[in-house]
Amino acid sequence: MSTQQWVTVLGSTGSIGTSTLEVIALHPERYRVYALTANCSREAILAQCLVHRPQIAVLNSPDDGQWLRNELASAGVKTLVETGAEAHSVVASAPGVDIVMAAIVGAAGLLPALAAAQSGKRVLLANKEALVMSGALFMQAVESSGATLLPIDSEHNAMFQCLPLQHRGGLEQHGISQLLLTASGGPFRGWSQQALANVTPDQACAHPNWSMGRKISVDSATLMNKGLELIEACWLFDATPQQICVVVHPQSVIHSMVAYHDGSVLAQLGNPDMRTPIAYGLAWPERIDAGVKTLDLFQVAQLDFEPPDEQHFPCLGLAREAMQAGGTAPAILNAANEVAVEAFLEQGLGFISIGDIVASVLDQSLTSTVDSLETVLDADRRARKLAQQCIIQRLR
Ligand code: NAD
Ligand code: MG
Repeated sequence: MSTQQWVTVLGSTGSIGTSTLEVIALHPERYRVYALTANCSREAILAQCLVHRPQIAVLNSPDDGQWLRNELASAGVKTLVETGAEAHSVVASAPGVDIVMAAIVGAAGLLPALAAAQSGKRVLLANKEALVMSGALFMQAVESSGATLLPIDSEHNAMFQCLPLQHRGGLEQHGISQLLLTASGGPFRGWSQQALANVTPDQACAHPNWSMGRKISVDSATLMNKGLELIEACWLFDATPQQICVVVHPQSVIHSMVAYHDGSVLAQLGNPDMRTPIAYGLAWPERIDAGVKTLDLFQVAQLDFEPPDEQHFPCLGLAREAMQAGGTAPAILNAANEVAVEAFLEQGLGFISIGDIVASVLDQSLTSTVDSLETVLDADRRARKLAQQCIIQRLR
């Protein structure tokens, strides 16, 4: 690789964004930061700008933007500061950009990730919600623009590594019988219903193997994360929900597997560190140093597997059903979940109620086929409203 590539990191101050910048910093000869974007963490993005000297930094509010402009000016850094939701999409699709890391959390990440896909970038997709909400549109955008889509979610990155290079068009025709989606089981694996009822946000955010943002940590604890990942895998690899088997593997060393008709099962293993899939996405098909220690199998010693407990963790089943229902159902599931997780983190909604809210929003919603982005965004808006109403009733 001779020329330097320009990278935009959407959601640069988050867990994935920070890890991405760590990998980039190991390879200054290969990568230069074009833009960094965040919602409101202005101190964090300032510190990143001082180190990485991007052309552009984006924050959502004009006040935060002005603060950042002043700080950068007094530090003598020439980074331009843009503000507003649309600015994320602008820096994701700017002509000079080669690679876009899509690491904004939740539905807010959809439009910028889509902008990157539509403009033919190498898209490193961490924002699984984008595919859950609008998988058909997203994959169409990738196809028609010639974008390169590389999954960063560790499970999908693992599957990608274990799949044949050409794997689109249905698993069967490539001799694949099943995708084995591994799950840690989250921090509450084996807990009773009574214990789950009293779970606090801090307990839910303390994941045993991975250090992640708060929303995805709660999703991991409810197993909604595995549900969202099942939907994500269906879109990425043209799989049906029936072709995906969720396997609880508490050590999080095998990041997922692909089973072939000849009886082979290929797995990707590694320490649970997102810098590995990030480095893979940045350099694919080459391999570069990620700053991650080699897996010590003697220290791991044991690999365990068990089926998921869908009775205590109903969110996985809800996601599977939403994917089977198709159309806007996954977008509705995602929106209801985002609102319910937020209410659990901020308003004292019970942990168990997250699944109840999602189920009742899905029950009360009419789904339609996805013919445009507007359909998806409309379903998202309606589901959020409905979820808010359900939550108010519950908290009363
Ligand atoms: P995080 O909460 O740590 O970071 C989120 C980032 O998005 C921050 O930079 C934040 O400023 C930005 N952001 C939030 N709301 C925004 C908005 N409205 N507009 C613009 N920017 C906004 O989250 P994370 O753990 O880094 O996860 C990011 C995405 O990657 C999620 O979709 C998550 O599911 C996915 N993912 C994360 C991990 C992980 O290990 N953390 C693993 C796999 C997939
Ligand atoms: Mg994952």
